[in-house]
Amino acid sequence: MTTSGPVKKDAHPFSREALEALLTRRFFYTRAFEIYGGVAGLYDYGPPGSALQANIIDFWRKHFIIEEEMLELDTTIMTLSDVLKTSGHVDKFTDWMVRDTKTGDVLRADHLVEGVLEARLKGDKEARGLKASAAPESDADKKKKRKKDVKSAAVQLPDALVAQYESILAQIDNYTGAQLGELIRTHAILNPDTGNEVGEPVEFNLMFESSIGPTGQIKGYLRPETAQGHFVNFARLLEFNYGRVPFASAQIGRSFRNEISPRAGLIRVREFTMAEIEHYVDPLNKRHARFDEAKDILVNLLPKDVQASGHTTLTKMTIGEAVAKKIVDNETLGYFLGRIYLFLTAIGIDPARLRFRQHMQNEMAHYAADCWDAEIQSSYGWVECVGCADRSAYDLSVHSKRTGQKLVVRQALPEPIVAERWTAEIEKKLFGPRFKKDAKAVEDGIMALDEQQLLKLKMDIANGPTPLKLADGREFEITSDLLTISKRVFKETVREFTPNVIEPSFGLGRIFYSLLEHVFWSRESDENRGVLSLPSAIAPIKALIVPISSNEQFTPVVRQISAQLRKAGISCRVDDSNASIGKRYARNDELGTPFGITIDFATVQNGTITLRERDTTDQRIGKIEQVVAVIIDLVEGTIDWTEACKRLPAYTGVQDVD
Ligand code: AMP
Repeated sequence: MTTSGPVKKDAHPFSREALEALLTRRFFYTRAFEIYGGVAGLYDYGPPGSALQANIIDFWRKHFIIEEEMLELDTTIMTLSDVLKTSGHVDKFTDWMVRDTKTGDVLRADHLVEGVLEARLKGDKEARGLKASAAPESDADKKKKRKKDVKSAAVQLPDALVAQYESILAQIDNYTGAQLGELIRTHAILNPDTGNEVGEPVEFNLMFESSIGPTGQIKGYLRPETAQGHFVNFARLLEFNYGRVPFASAQIGRSFRNEISPRAGLIRVREFTMAEIEHYVDPLNKRHARFDEAKDILVNLLPKDVQASGHTTLTKMTIGEAVAKKIVDNETLGYFLGRIYLFLTAIGIDPARLRFRQHMQNEMAHYAADCWDAEIQSSYGWVECVGCADRSAYDLSVHSKRTGQKLVVRQALPEPIVAERWTAEIEKKLFGPRFKKDAKAVEDGIMALDEQQLLKLKMDIANGPTPLKLADGREFEITSDLLTISKRVFKETVREFTPNVIEPSFGLGRIFYSLLEHVFWSRESDENRGVLSLPSAIAPIKALIVPISSNEQFTPVVRQISAQLRKAGISCRVDDSNASIGKRYARNDELGTPFGITIDFATVQNGTITLRERDTTDQRIGKIEQVVAVIIDLVEGTIDWTEACKRLPAYTGVQDVD
């Protein structure tokens, strides 16, 4: 008989090696092209990994797209270079890299500084006899670090230097290339792999370049994010939404980044699945209709001023208070932080190891109004898993300017507004003969000028011919006879504005891996018996069906139960292998399967089956229909295990299945 006391999930310290061995053994994922030696930063997902990812995506779609009536998109991965030039990625989507001066090995500059300073601080703590690190670390990692950064071994540092290192680490995402170079020199940071000096940081663009078509004339890139696919379709999305804001578009798909030296498993890869939301709002009204539902959610915040003062102390606060105190810029941004929190904790992320870190000034794109990362703590430290930024009107404005297409919302005004504005009137008779086939482009270029630019043009042409530069780079000479620029009175009945965009952007691989760390533990009785306590909503397989032996009498009932579960949309698996029942269950504990059904001779005689719960190993008994109904309710989340125990009595048979 199975006895089940309270489950002790922390009986053994976390071991990344044990988890990785389990994930490899059960084929959650593996290095891509492994039989060819693999390629850093590329991974293939196996059956349980693919199912888990699909279930996380399915949950995400329900939590965001369906719950919030978002407009879903599926846009191309191959992206026209012009689009990414306009968005700023061609010029600015870069990281700083340094080269080993002797071997030529390439390292990411900020990661180098971070790794070396952290190792030195760890050595300092060891020398002072303090516990080295709160973050769990694998034995192999410790050995590797000891080998690589000899200086980190138990060397006490002056107090002032410790404070300086801590301050640098708190602001590590805030440094420019030149500043990173300065830090490397000042603190004598060497390549820990070789002990050699490294050169000055240089910029490296992370996009994979390609060309479209056989002649290679059309330049393209594999997209580094899905966002641009939303923005270029904005006009159609707006029309689909009856011309009104706020609304959101959402997209789940692959993105590619040629990371400089990916070394952290699924945390830093070169191809990954993103789920991105672009929420379009009126810049004058960033309130959210459902803010009430998010305002009481309590989250861990790490605001920018705390980091700038060299600290990482977390503030626990409700979303409502954070917005009221202007720590979070506006209601819509706050609402999404709350929704992100609910999503992550519902799939099994430990709320104590989840924080929202605000971007510091240098780190944030110049156009962004505010930006927070949802960071999850794992054995790799605190890692950004979801970015949530208020991108203002930047993206829509630049695409509109470049293409000449209006990407604006038009809203009827309650009262007409009478206003005076500088406007240009073209002399059509002169324009055509002067500019010929380019006449329309030049006219559009003039019409796209704002009032200030028009006023300047008026003054310039009064002094002589003036060059006009179009968005595509071509220049045309404008003379005063071609147009009249004057102030005119307008009666406006419509307000026209470019919406602002609030963008929650999820990296699913990082969430997937962090989640696996958070739900992994080993049975108190045996360190080698690993369990993944995945919530049943996202577990790859919900129920394991285990006939006690291969006796043919069990076949019809196995078929009957699996058909009933399948009909209810519950994925199940039959394990009729020769392994002992205990082994079969242990195997499925490693796959995170929450429920097990045992079929024995009592099933054939009385129609009863037993139901086993993964974490407690608790076993209950009931008629087939009763147990199936309980499983359906458990998987759908309408009842929990305590409730299930009220519906099914404890199993007191003699068969010990664990
Ligand atoms: P970003 O656009 O840089 O804010 O990234 C958005 C999200 O994508 C991040 O929060 C991560 O979850 C994920 N992400 C970014 N780069 C990588 C990478 N190299 N490997 C895995 N996930 C990534």
